Amino acid sequence: MNTVLAIDIGGTYTKIGVVTEEGEILISKVFNTRSKDSFDSFFQELVTEVNLLTSKLDQDCKILGIGVGAPNANSYTGNVENPPNLKWGKRIPLAKSIKDSFELPVFIANDANAAALGELKFGMAQGMRNFVVLTLGTGLGSGIIVNGDLLLGEHALAAEIGHVNVDPNGRQCNCGLQGCLEAYASVTGIKRTVFGLMAKMRVDSSLQGVSFDDLTGETITNAALKGDELALKAFDVTAAILGRKMADTVAHLDPEAFILTGGLSKAGEVLLKPVVASMEKNLFIAYKGKIKVLISEAPRESTILGPAALAFKNLKTLAIQT
Ligand SMILES: [Zn+2]
Repeated sequence: MNTVLAIDIGGTYTKIGVVTEEGEILISKVFNTRSKDSFDSFFQELVTEVNLLTSKLDQDCKILGIGVGAPNANSYTGNVENPPNLKWGKRIPLAKSIKDSFELPVFIANDANAAALGELKFGMAQGMRNFVVLTLGTGLGSGIIVNGDLLLGEHALAAEIGHVNVDPNGRQCNCGLQGCLEAYASVTGIKRTVFGLMAKMRVDSSLQGVSFDDLTGETITNAALKGDELALKAFDVTAAILGRKMADTVAHLDPEAFILTGGLSKAGEVLLKPVVASMEKNLFIAYKGKIKVLISEAPRESTILGPAALAFKNLKTLAIQT
């Protein structure tokens, strides 16, 4: 059976697994990324975990290549460059390190780009040719598929929708710019909105008394789903800004759909309804009523399907070239 090894490196957890071309996860494992440690210690653990995992595979399983999704991973250079949530330094030769250890073809991509490929091959975007994935997690990641292929751009840095400007005098973003979309439409962003609203609104809310560090996207989502007025308002504010910027994205790309994923997407209709309303309000007339906004059906555990899709796609291209 032909398979690939998929590695999804996140700020908190790293997931590894062996995946078939049909998207079946044969075997998988999650371990702590320990973001404060050096790359070398992370990499040693990765090698150990991969060897342990693959030793359990059936004899007839053949691993053809390795797909890796990581924050700030560059598909052209194979490096991870300045990952904001990992203390790894400026430029880590991730693809080369993995290739040297496992002697298999290695393909890496920014995590949100890999997620877009995962939706295309295994998820709800099967058959679509133009769509945008927005991952609403700690930050706001994005992956763009144009004419059936991943949009990489000149430097493999395309699709940084999280850093388009919402307000030049707005919130400070982690990237150093002011007023980025990510500072509003992400888990971190909605937390800031909740605290802003708390200072202004006089309502009873289950979120009152929770410290900023203890407040999570899940807490806000659950409160909103229970009808908490403050949490619902926070979602409305977030969705209004996100929808407006999605309308801008439509003007650039004319996509069939947006697929929302990540922590905030778990709010479902609470997020979707005001996002669609805001996007429609701000859309150029030619696009009105034509753009779908969907919530990803991929469960959290399946994030390795993105890197797996990346590996299968590139292996196919390699096979055609040789
Ligand atoms: Zn930014």
